[in-house]
Amino acid sequence: MQRILTIIGARPQFIKASVVSKAIQAQAGIEETLLHTGQHFDANMSDVFFDQLGIPRPDVQLDIHGGSHGAMTGRMLEQIEVVILREKPDRVLVYGDTNSTLAGALAGAKLHVPVAHVEAGLRSFNMRMPEEINRILTDQVSDLLFCPTDTAVRNLEKEGFADKPAQVLKVGDVMQDAALFFAQRAVRPAGFPVELLSTDGHGLSRTEGKGEKSAANPFVLATLHRAENTDDPARLAGIVSALNSIHRDLAPVLLPLHPRTRGAMARQGLELLTHTIDPVGYFEMIWLLNHCDLVMTDSGGVQKEAFFFGKACVTMRDQTEWVELVEIGANELVGADGERIEQAATRHLGRRVKDDGELYGGGKASERIVGHLLQGVGA
Ligand code: UDP
Repeated sequence: MQRILTIIGARPQFIKASVVSKAIQAQAGIEETLLHTGQHFDANMSDVFFDQLGIPRPDVQLDIHGGSHGAMTGRMLEQIEVVILREKPDRVLVYGDTNSTLAGALAGAKLHVPVAHVEAGLRSFNMRMPEEINRILTDQVSDLLFCPTDTAVRNLEKEGFADKPAQVLKVGDVMQDAALFFAQRAVRPAGFPVELLSTDGHGLSRTEGKGEKSAANPFVLATLHRAENTDDPARLAGIVSALNSIHRDLAPVLLPLHPRTRGAMARQGLELLTHTIDPVGYFEMIWLLNHCDLVMTDSGGVQKEAFFFGKACVTMRDQTEWVELVEIGANELVGADGERIEQAATRHLGRRVKDDGELYGGGKASERIVGHLLQGVGA
């Protein structure tokens, strides 16, 4: 029996780990211990995902959040090391690009426990992004590098991984697995503004009608939380002002507001005049992705989910790790310049895109990951 210590701590990691954990449970041969660092801890940033996605309660719950990047990562490193020494796993499994990812990978590697990285090889080539530093360093100390895309494989080849003992494996994207697996569970968020609901002329919201697909009037689904935007006053002001103009002049904008963005706006005295709701669970997010007419985001995951759900995406960043979406015209990068953001929204509102299942593995990534994990230790 192979013993794996999975380390997660932030919202997108709960979603990614949920499908891999299900694939682990479906196979004999792996026993998984789940460690939650506590990086995200609010009920609507953490608990809701465990409840909805059927993730087992963490075996180890740390309570590490807030503070500077160095302090947070350092505290995690120290405490994860204790857990590894106690649990003696055969392998550490980490996801994505957060401080929890880096701390878990470093703690494992320093104790000579092999590390597997899900979402290896992604690069924005912007070293000012904390996520980029986390990704590069995590890949360097991992021995199983699970790449979601061809681009990710090529990035690692360029960094010399062909000559290293580590295995670079293209498996597809676990977020596509999650989107497909949970697609039928979509549920309208409790806070969805009633004025955005279409009616059938009898005052009945169309969501109540059986089989009705377009339960909402056209709206833009926006998310905003990247530090490169929230921690840069000029960028944040540009984006907020553009979203406000789009909401006023083009189509209503609905934004589930990340706590980091809420804090940054309050400090800067900025106000969103869009429909703003608290962060929603994954099933609610799927509903919003299904019903919106455009996605505007700076999230990594949401860029792809727009594509999975057939919607064009306007990305309020200067680079993306998901370059293939830009190449096929499903996604446009617009940075933080208000005018560019507004023009792109006008161009893409209502545009549909088609996922032929080629780019992100078509929902088989978790299965492939577990297959490799079963072969990985001692190979
Ligand atoms: N998400 C969610 N509720 C929200 C906003 C996002 O469930 O209110 C989901 C989203 O659908 C995606 C994931 O969280 O699956 C993306 O996380 P986030 O944008 O925080 O991180 P990133 O992908 O940029 O690392």
